[in-house]
Amino acid sequence: MTDSLVPLGKRPVAPAPRPAPAAGAPRVFVETYGCQMNVADSDLIGSVLADAGYATCDRAELADVIVINTCAVREKAEERVIARAAELGALKRKRPNTVLAIVGCMAEHLKEGLAARAPAVDVIAGPDTYRRMPELLAAARAKPVTVGAPSGGVIVDIQLDKAETYDGLSGAIGGDGVSGFVTIQRGCDKFCTFCVVPFTRGRERGTPPREVLRQVRELAAAGYREVTLLGQTVNSYVFEDVTFAELIRAVASVEGIERVRFTSPYPVDFTDDVVAAIASTPKICKYVHLPLQSGSDVVLERMRRGYTVEDYRAIVARLRAAVPHIAISTDILTGFCGETVADHEQTLALMRELRFDSAFMFAYSERDLTLSAKKMVDDVPPAEKQRRLSEIVALQEIISAEVFTAHIGRDERVLVTGPSKRDPAQLVGRTDGFKSVILPTNVGAVGELVDVTIKRATMATLFGF
Ligand code: SF4
Repeated sequence: MTDSLVPLGKRPVAPAPRPAPAAGAPRVFVETYGCQMNVADSDLIGSVLADAGYATCDRAELADVIVINTCAVREKAEERVIARAAELGALKRKRPNTVLAIVGCMAEHLKEGLAARAPAVDVIAGPDTYRRMPELLAAARAKPVTVGAPSGGVIVDIQLDKAETYDGLSGAIGGDGVSGFVTIQRGCDKFCTFCVVPFTRGRERGTPPREVLRQVRELAAAGYREVTLLGQTVNSYVFEDVTFAELIRAVASVEGIERVRFTSPYPVDFTDDVVAAIASTPKICKYVHLPLQSGSDVVLERMRRGYTVEDYRAIVARLRAAVPHIAISTDILTGFCGETVADHEQTLALMRELRFDSAFMFAYSERDLTLSAKKMVDDVPPAEKQRRLSEIVALQEIISAEVFTAHIGRDERVLVTGPSKRDPAQLVGRTDGFKSVILPTNVGAVGELVDVTIKRATMATLFGF
């Protein structure tokens, strides 16, 4: 561990307040699709534009500039953005000076071709261009307006930069004011055969530890209590001689931060040191999202995931031995090229055996640029993919209901994150194991850690008093 990991000072230092936008400042609305990294990137974009004098607004209809931050992981995510861009095209016909920027993974994936599918777009920008957003938007706003068409041609900036980690920018502040994100790694070097991310986000690179700690302290100074460290394969993080285990211990020692999470780790990069850090550091949450994808060795090999079912089982066993109540969630991708009914049955059997707390479950859709799209046959018919997905979802619902029900009667420490969306007269918070808990308002205030007993459970929510 280097000196750069030693937290500086005892009390977090509040970031310098940003001056209020000038009267008449252009208004920007940022809309986010996809993963938590995109949520953090949208905060970063908002921050870059605020520094450039933009005011934020919360409705596209009021904005001078609309930024859609996109996901390319599944075809459906791209279709949603195309549909949204068409809606915004109608808005632009009424307000022709409005600039529409489509940024992020889908912009990087489709490049100039995106303009043919989203004719209202003015700026197409990839995930490594956010420092340049003020210039890109200024250029688009300066172009002559043509009603019903992009404003005099589309501006495209899709340059990937293997050194860009957005050091020095203050993108960490956002979200609910209690739980914040810090991106510690960008890009991915794994090249799983189904995944477009290495092509849209470029090569893996770690944020310098000093910069990670600066952003975590900034969150603490702004009153945040929890931080989630983000990366595509977050536990592969390394920066010079600093390992991921050293980094998470250092983050946990930042005063004011009560909980540290990270997502998503890559199963085989779970070192003993990381497992020990989770087990021995109270502020590091006892929760791991561990993407499985398939319970069949043949399919895992075809996906080039770099582990077998036995390897994965051993990682889960190591985590559960070190931290007996650890919560584990996963990702399952069904209907991959060549997946047989027997492969699918093996996935179901492994789910029954390992009993994940929860899961994100998807049917495979081909993404161009990837090895599976180039070299493999997408041979599971759509109806069969949906049938398998339904079985996987139904099984996970049963397991999740059992896991959540087992919490009834347990005492849990809950971080209150805000009013419940369904019933603003109640509060919502999260357990250490990342389970949502609905609470009465008299248990504590937003941002507090409260001790409650779980009285009731559904398959996705706990209720505490
Ligand atoms: S580890 Fe695999 S699935 Fe995850 S982002 Fe990298 S290539 Fe995609």
